[in-house]
Amino acid sequence: MKIFVNLVYHPVYTLGPGIRAGLWLQGCSIRCKNCISKHTWEKSPKYQVNINDIANIINSFPTDKLTISGGEPLDQAQQLIELLKRVRPTKSDILLYTGYVLENFIESNEKIWEDLKCLVDVIIDGPFIWGKETDSIWKGSENQRMIIINPKLKNIYEEYMEKRKEKKLQFIEKDGELFLAGIPYQKDFEEIIKLSKKLPKNTF
Ligand code: SF4
Repeated sequence: MKIFVNLVYHPVYTLGPGIRAGLWLQGCSIRCKNCISKHTWEKSPKYQVNINDIANIINSFPTDKLTISGGEPLDQAQQLIELLKRVRPTKSDILLYTGYVLENFIESNEKIWEDLKCLVDVIIDGPFIWGKETDSIWKGSENQRMIIINPKLKNIYEEYMEKRKEKKLQFIEKDGELFLAGIPYQKDFEEIIKLSKKLPKNTF
């Protein structure tokens, strides 16, 4: 089975607590205005990779923490489940970003949710809404919520529910392209995009 992937990387410092693995899936049907990850929207065959290969890469990273973003991960929910089954043995803190409102997704995907809910620990849900600025460290807009699925991680993540942004972003270079990891203030978006255009090849 194959899955559309934009980037898999370790270490990631700016998307969740601790030093993490990061997986950015490719393809997004939600298409929020002013999304900072537009380069992950297109679902072209060139992004398709074997799920076992990606699982092996993720399992080889020396961390038990994984953040999944995109693109929209739940647009490939079945493939994501297959991947997560393979990485769950090495990852006890899996943070999933989705542009869907969780209740809406569950309502039309009950069976998928039955499988998925044991494979993710924390979900940050909801579309990115331009104009709904937020101070919250892991959110892009105020409407988004941090939902703790695994009570064992409650203590760790509850601290971050109140935490303000630290204004830290991570630039990742891969195959001559630059990728941005982290959630900036909306008011800083334009400056970041301008700055990134001064750099050699980039993905903005
Ligand atoms: S769901 Fe995420 S990737 Fe998709 S448009 Fe919204 S912010 Fe961008």
